[in-house]
Amino acid sequence: MNVHLLRSPELNEETYRNVLQLLQNFQGPMHFIACEEEIIEETINSNERIWNKKEEFERLEVNSFAVQESRKSSAFTIKFPYRERVKSWKQLFAACDTYRKTKEISQNDLVVLLTDISNELNWFGGVSPNMKNYFIQTSNWEHFFGNTIDIRFPIAYEVIIWAMRYFMFENNVAIMNGVHKKPIGYIMDFCEDKSQIIIKMRTADVCDTCMNHFKERDTPTLYTRQFFEILDGIRNSMTFRSRSSLLQQPSRLEIRGHSRKIFFTDLGGLELRLNPKEKAIYLFYLNHPEGILISHLQDYKEEITQLYSRFSNQSEPDIINRAIETLINPLDNDINVVLSRINAKIKKAVGESLFDYYCIGGERGDRKKIRLDRELITYNIDLIYFRFIKKMSKLFFHKINN
Ligand SMILES: [Zn+2]
Repeated sequence: MNVHLLRSPELNEETYRNVLQLLQNFQGPMHFIACEEEIIEETINSNERIWNKKEEFERLEVNSFAVQESRKSSAFTIKFPYRERVKSWKQLFAACDTYRKTKEISQNDLVVLLTDISNELNWFGGVSPNMKNYFIQTSNWEHFFGNTIDIRFPIAYEVIIWAMRYFMFENNVAIMNGVHKKPIGYIMDFCEDKSQIIIKMRTADVCDTCMNHFKERDTPTLYTRQFFEILDGIRNSMTFRSRSSLLQQPSRLEIRGHSRKIFFTDLGGLELRLNPKEKAIYLFYLNHPEGILISHLQDYKEEITQLYSRFSNQSEPDIINRAIETLINPLDNDINVVLSRINAKIKKAVGESLFDYYCIGGERGDRKKIRLDRELITYNIDLIYFRFIKKMSKLFFHKINN
């Protein structure tokens, strides 16, 4: 089954790509597909709403359920009164339908709109009456999890929860009857008090009754397995991140493929996206655990040029050469600009607590170096070539043995 993830124009593109990539990390019958963005219209029709009180903001609206008594206070980052853009559920699902029509998407596929714009009932996400269209709100997560949260996790988590509900329940009414109105710490808790989502995400567990919904509706095992792998993966990455500074344990790093993409293995496979120049410099410093003075970079011109030519779209040797000359010229500020851009991207990716392990650090005039234990780096490169060699040698030995 295909799950099309749509990016609403106001949603940050990097957040969108990170969520998509996180979900795509887990293999299974569900395929998460990126949207073709030009199809989704600018959102002009949203209204504005003002939240005067935190308590109201943290509560989603339901007509018939009793208000939960206990209310936990969470990290407070939003100042009230707080204004936000809001749309009706109808408007949100209409965006899904437009995309379906334009792209001629199969009736069997799910379409999930990711949007920063809030919705009339203040839900984290919702489903259309035909159970085929969904929306997930991508904003405000910092309010519930604090500013250190990597918002990929709750967003991806919501995508999975709604996909699970698609399999567990026949329609909207069944969903409302099936979810736990009293939160019991399982993932199908209906968080009328939105701050309870934190408990839900930490357990990532499904109760027996909910497991039975899967069985009753003959959900193929491969789907349920994929759901649980994603939920566990999200939980582990979240826990890893929050414990890592305490345990002094940074995530492993994987350098993958011909273009040497850089991934944080234990942080849900988050990619560190660097431009060609930044990547050349970062990999260069990874290759030199001893550290290199900026004024000595000129001695490594060949190595840096080789790295840069691999990533740059530029094939003109003269232009590459000039770019590197500028980069390693100690009298030019270029290298400092590149270093601070790399470090800013690292901080954004791994957060304050892990930053020191990965940044290119060192006092002014000192050697610059990356502190990370190189044992934590795996190079997964030229895989196809290795597979080919392995296969050939197997064939070869097979022949001699017979
Ligand atoms: Zn349950």
